[in-house]
Amino acid sequence: MNRLYAIGEVLIDFIPLQKGCALKDVRSFERAPGGAPANVAAAVAKYGASAHVLTKLGRDAFGDFLLEELHNAGVDTTHVKRTDEANTGLAFVSLKDNGERDFSFYRKPSADLLLSENEIDAALFQTGDILHFGSVDLVDSPMKQAHRKAIRAVKETGGLVSFDPNVRLPLWNDAEDCRRAILEFLPKAHLVKISDEELAFITGIEDEETAILSLFRGDVQAVVYTRGAHGAELYTANGSYTAPGFKVDAQDTTGAGDAFVGGMLFHLLQKEASPSNLTSLLDEHHAEILRFANASGALTTTNKGAISALPDKAAVEALMHFQNT
Ligand code: ADP
Repeated sequence: MNRLYAIGEVLIDFIPLQKGCALKDVRSFERAPGGAPANVAAAVAKYGASAHVLTKLGRDAFGDFLLEELHNAGVDTTHVKRTDEANTGLAFVSLKDNGERDFSFYRKPSADLLLSENEIDAALFQTGDILHFGSVDLVDSPMKQAHRKAIRAVKETGGLVSFDPNVRLPLWNDAEDCRRAILEFLPKAHLVKISDEELAFITGIEDEETAILSLFRGDVQAVVYTRGAHGAELYTANGSYTAPGFKVDAQDTTGAGDAFVGGMLFHLLQKEASPSNLTSLLDEHHAEILRFANASGALTTTNKGAISALPDKAAVEALMHFQNT
């Protein structure tokens, strides 16, 4: 069976129990397993495909917790490394009244950033596998090199590369460093997912369509543009397709984008997507794939957290059945 490999950060989000106050004033937090690559892998595993994470955790209690959570979500943790040299990454979050979030990251460096290229086994990848990554672990570190090696290795086997920039500015020295890293790695991907909040920042272009089309560079064959409650648009070399969002009672949008990507990659694994058939697969099956991904993202907003909020496949299919968007 074709497998997903998600490389990057696996960390704990400490979510505030008090809303509407600054981070310094939050008194208590609830722990939630997170990190975008972990969320995407958990979604793919939950829908029934094989999903691995490539990361490093501290040899500490938080690392033990994350390993257990990934395992419970059905993610294969065989290739997760552990280290004594750094602690597992933590992110403390505060929720302001207007829904905006403040973050304080504990990673100077965190264990995930220490995964080195020597720890990526190029022989791991087989034809039909998909590699997914984001930008959070593209800061200067051994992990950045590990990304380069994994991307090269999966491409050598004819596998597909998927990228979600997932901009987190507080992690960077300045915004320009973040944009530069994203623009360096984006052309290495075949499929790019980008949200409406990131597009102008990454491209520097205000007009939406011009900005999206500017992302077709290097190996990029498809761009999926997510628009929160409004759903998503997919662009390929042959045109664009729109899929409206599902109407749900959104409580917490954490992980919606990851659940969307997970839903999409699950379908692409099932359909044995590769760089040579990606465009034609998306042109042919865009409606089914976008509907599933939108329903996956929508249902994730109806519960708190990311991995803990993921629906199962039956729930996604039920929403698609009962709500004809
Ligand atoms: P990100 O979480 O990466 O910022 P979006 O906010 O665009 O990305 O959300 C990703 C997808 O999740 C959307 O395309 C949509 O399918 C779904 N989604 C997000 N928020 C909502 C919402 N409030 N109601 C319904 N669906 C949502």
